[in-house]
Amino acid sequence: MRTPINILITAGPTREAIDPVRYISNRSSGKMGYAVARVAIERGHRVHLISGPVSLTAPEGAILKQVVTADEMLRAVEEHFPWCRALVMCAAVADWRPRRVATQKIKKGDRCLSLELEPTVDILGHVAQAKGNRLLVGFAAETDMPEEHAVAKLKFKNLDFIVANDVSRQDAGFEVDTNAAVLMGADGRREVWPLMSKHAMAGLIVDLIETESN
Ligand code: C5P
Repeated sequence: MRTPINILITAGPTREAIDPVRYISNRSSGKMGYAVARVAIERGHRVHLISGPVSLTAPEGAILKQVVTADEMLRAVEEHFPWCRALVMCAAVADWRPRRVATQKIKKGDRCLSLELEPTVDILGHVAQAKGNRLLVGFAAETDMPEEHAVAKLKFKNLDFIVANDVSRQDAGFEVDTNAAVLMGADGRREVWPLMSKHAMAGLIVDLIETESN
């Protein structure tokens, strides 16, 4: 029998409020992260799943923590990070949030409305400072030069692996049930993962965690 591994997984988008009824977010459906959680549970691992707002059901056996904002996701990841052996950061965390959140609904008018956005904390970059022997797996959803951008993030965020996917493709990345990616490792590894179901790709990610956590 395989030794169970403590795996922390994030999934879905975050939402950043503009006013009490409006927010900015992104197209992440959470499918990739939930697939990783499902496969990890199926293989007997212990899973904490931190999820932004999605319309998916968490796999039975995973401990689910629902969050809305990047800040809430940061706090949840910080809380569970000491417990985990591997962090798989599938979530599409908002990179910016409105600098000021209006307390009342902003009234519509004929004039343009400008929003000032401030950067959110980079969760991976933040927890990587206390990495220890944990395995860190990030994702890079790119619309141009996915590999170049992903390699830069791998180094900058001190990750072990990054899964780079080209979200300009209709059949990969956001919302769909399939994905195609290039896996890159801090050890120089480069594996092309052809178009496959997100469930199958989740299997490859869990394989990686099992091999590298030994
Ligand atoms: O948004 P970006 O392309 O930098 O995302 C790359 C990786 O960093 C992803 O795994 C994502 O979950 C993570 N990330 C994060 N905190 C952010 C933005 C992204 O941990 N604020």
